[in-house]
Parts: sequence; C-alpha cells; structure tokens
Amino acid sequence: MTIKIGLLYGGKSAEHHVSMQTALAVIKALNSDKFDIYPIYITEEGQWIKGAQLNGPVDSVKELAFSEGNALSPMALAPTLFQSSAEQGPFDVIFPLLHGPNGEDGTVQGMLELLNLPYVGNGVLASSAGMDKVIMKNIFAQAGLSQVNYVWFIRSEWETAREEAYHNVENEIGYPCFVKPANLGSSVGISKCSNRNELEAAFKEAFMFDRKIIIEEGVTAREIEAGVLGNDYPECSVAGEIVPKDKAFYDYKAKYEDGETSLIIPAEMTADEYERLKDMAITAYKALDCSGLVRADFFLTHDGKLFINEVNTMPGFTPFSMFPLLWKHTGVEYPELIERLVNLAIERHQEKQ
Ligand code: ADP
Ligand code: MG
Ligand code: MG
Repeated sequence: MTIKIGLLYGGKSAEHHVSMQTALAVIKALNSDKFDIYPIYITEEGQWIKGAQLNGPVDSVKELAFSEGNALSPMALAPTLFQSSAEQGPFDVIFPLLHGPNGEDGTVQGMLELLNLPYVGNGVLASSAGMDKVIMKNIFAQAGLSQVNYVWFIRSEWETAREEAYHNVENEIGYPCFVKPANLGSSVGISKCSNRNELEAAFKEAFMFDRKIIIEEGVTAREIEAGVLGNDYPECSVAGEIVPKDKAFYDYKAKYEDGETSLIIPAEMTADEYERLKDMAITAYKALDCSGLVRADFFLTHDGKLFINEVNTMPGFTPFSMFPLLWKHTGVEYPELIERLVNLAIERHQEKQ
C-alpha cells in the first residue's frame, strides 16, 4: 500500500523561495511506488491551495506555485484540506517543508496536532522553543550547554528606556556584539556592531522584524554544524564547516544568493572536539524535546572552545543543503533520509495514541 503524503510548502515567510526549492527536490526523491504525493501550496500571502495528486516529478518551481483550486485561509480549508479525496480519507502523513515563522515555529504543527495527523519533524514545543532564540538559549543554559553571553529586550522596554538598554548591552556584553530578532532565521534582521552608533541602528533594524530581540557577545570562531536524526534515540551525523567567502558573517546573501559559501564535510577537527560537539548536539536535542530532525549549529574557537549557537528545527533541505549533505557523508542518501523522516513521523504519532 502506498503512503499518502501531503506536502506543505511555500509559506507566509521570508523563506518562501527556499521552501519551494526544497519541495521540488523532495518530490523528485520520493519513490513513487511507495508514496503518493499531494501538494499543498501556501502563497506568500498565506492562502492555502491544495493541488491534485502528482503523477511524477515536476520540473520547475513555477509548476508548484499553482493557482487553481480554492485559495482560502487555513481555517476555512481545514475540514477538507487534509483529505486526499472525500472517499479516501485523510493523508497518512504531512511533510511541512516550511521555514521560519508560520511554519517552523509550532503554529502549523499545532494545527496538525489538533487534526490528529502524523507530520514530519519537530512537535509544537520544540518548534516554538527552537524558533525563539531567547527561550532556546535559556533552555540550553539550564541543560549546562556552553554558549556566548546574551541579553534580551522587548520593544516596549527599549522604547521607554533606550539609553538604559544600550548601557546594559555595553556593560554585560560589550563589542563586538550581534543584535538579532528573537524569532527569525536566515540571518534576516541581524547586525554585527562595533560601537554605539551601530548598536542603535541595529536595535531599530531588529525591532522592525520582532517585538523581542537578543544581543550576543560576538566571537571569532569557525562555524560547525551537525545533523541530528531520530525520536527517542537520536543519532548525530558527521560535522560540517561553513566557510562564507569574504563576509563579516554568514548573512542572508551568503546563504542563498552568492553561491560563494563552501561547505567542508567532514569538518576538520580533532576527535575530542567532535566527541564534545556530538554530546552537545544530542544534549540540545533532548533539552528541547526534539523529534525527527534538527541541525545543530556551533562556534568552534581557535583554542578549541565549543559554543552552541542554535538549532534549526526545519533546516534547509535541498540535496545541496548542509543537513542532507551531512547525512550523505554519514551514509544516508537523500531518498533514504526522507523515508526515515516519514517513518519517524508515523512512529511518533503511533506512540502518542
Ligand atoms: P539565523 O537563525 O538567522 O541563522 P544565527 O544566530 O545563526 O541566526 O546568526 C546568523 C549568522 O551570524 C551566524 O551563522 C554567524 O555567521 C553570525 N553570528 C551570529 N551570532 C554570532 C556570534 N555571537 N558571534 C559571531 N558570529 C555570530
Ligand atoms: Mg536559525
Ligand atoms: Mg543560523
């Protein structure tokens, strides 16, 4: 019997286009004897459109961004959206290939929980805690994971006492520091600051994207990432290094536009460094109560100190993205990786029943 997969992609998010590329690759890799694929496209405005069952791979993102069918809000569509057809009943599993707010942050996951549908990846708690950098770091701190120092503010605190906020950053964190919206990804709204002027501009910028921001001590370090896969018994992949070319940091452009960033897999590091990284990745996974997958991102300083930077609960997932490449080097090819994720989703759902 084939497994009926509802593929959710696009999304009302800055990462809409990344999601489209991923959907294209996942459709291509899904074995058509084992899976029936039903595309559900979310427009940039947040309208949901269900397409007809796909009969084979599609060639372009354009084909995936269809417009026929009823474009409606998820609320209006919920009763019918997740059924392959009225006769056949609901999908066996949903694959939310969505990044950032309104997709990776527990909102879509919560809706799928209510509908009692199995879905790939992290649950509500891990997704939402992982999306909020302050909450994530607080949980990591409690788990004893080593991190750079950080402080945070909500917009109203800053609006009523700006000087105090800047002072606070200078006293607790100092320069250079990184100012980030708490709930975002893809480096959107992030600035590196070396003085008060830059700090003021960075606060303004970050508050345009979120009502909460985080300010971190800037470190000079290599950026090393690892993939974690599993439910109760997570496994860690080999580590990979990101080397952005001539960049102050790994910003949005370096991530998606330049093609100038190199990924080095496996990352050059000592066995001891890798062991520590692996322990930290698994500890982070358990601390956030993750399931399915995460990509755990670290800073490795030249004197061998490791800091966890963040986890991404739905990491970039094209065949050329870090997470699938890390697993490929660990011995899990792309189609197998996708199948394992689908099986992990079904397994978790069954355990809950
Ligand atoms: P996102 O969730 O948007 O990827 P990150 O916290 O990973 O946000 O920050 C994006 C990039 O900014 C990192 O990959 C790194 O290049 C740089 N960066 C972020 N925080 C720091 C820091 N504390 N010290 C040095 N570089 C940092
Ligand atoms: Mg992130
Ligand atoms: Mg990051």
